[in-house]
Amino acid sequence: MSKWVVANIKMNKTDTEVKEYAIKIKKFLKKCDLNIAVCPSFVSVPTAVSILKKSKILVGSQNIAAEEQGAYTGEVSAKMLSDIGAQVAIIGHSERRRYYGETDEVVNKKILMAQSQNILPVVCLVYDGGEGYQTDLERQLEIVLKGVDTSKKIIFALEPVWAIGTGKVMANEDIEPAIEITKTYAKHLLGKEPEVLYGGSVNLISVVPMLEMKNCDGFLVGTACKDAFEFSKLCEITANKD
Ligand code: PGA
Repeated sequence: MSKWVVANIKMNKTDTEVKEYAIKIKKFLKKCDLNIAVCPSFVSVPTAVSILKKSKILVGSQNIAAEEQGAYTGEVSAKMLSDIGAQVAIIGHSERRRYYGETDEVVNKKILMAQSQNILPVVCLVYDGGEGYQTDLERQLEIVLKGVDTSKKIIFALEPVWAIGTGKVMANEDIEPAIEITKTYAKHLLGKEPEVLYGGSVNLISVVPMLEMKNCDGFLVGTACKDAFEFSKLCEITANKD
């Protein structure tokens, strides 16, 4: 099974910049055998879709509304995203949780919305590696997976908050058991083992030892996805290790 690399561009590129970026990665990654998703801001999803639609690179959003439709000023619904060609949505990123108060209950509603439009949810789980982390991961999974359609694919990303955008990386010995716990418990709830990614300062250097992990299905990348060449190299290194 090919690994995943998901680019979370965050609030870092204008539409003009996303256009240039998408043209470059399409060219650089033409032959790369990997599951790749690129998630620009909402406003640039159509631009990325129009450039990447004939490639294997999927386009996604960084968020999705928790409600179906109605008077929710500033929100973007799953139906709107599906209508403009988004195939993936990052849900419950730690920055959404920290700055916008997203709870596991909200994350659950967002997963249900994404599934209703056949958008693949990449669900971020907060992982601090501290004592009791197993209980904490299992509690998050129980809430976010309440009532989900178990026949549809859901991907998880384990995200140690202190490793995001800091250049600090978690050791494989700490990531692997957490991935195992996530897979085992999610399997208990979903009936099948999901793919689990790692996110937090993954770059051209840190990815090399991380690729030795047996149970890690890929990466959610922030800082190192901003440059098209660097991101493409990261994808190639990951693909070559498969
Ligand atoms: P980073 O971001 O790669 O800059 O640490 C990762 C993330 O936000 O998921």
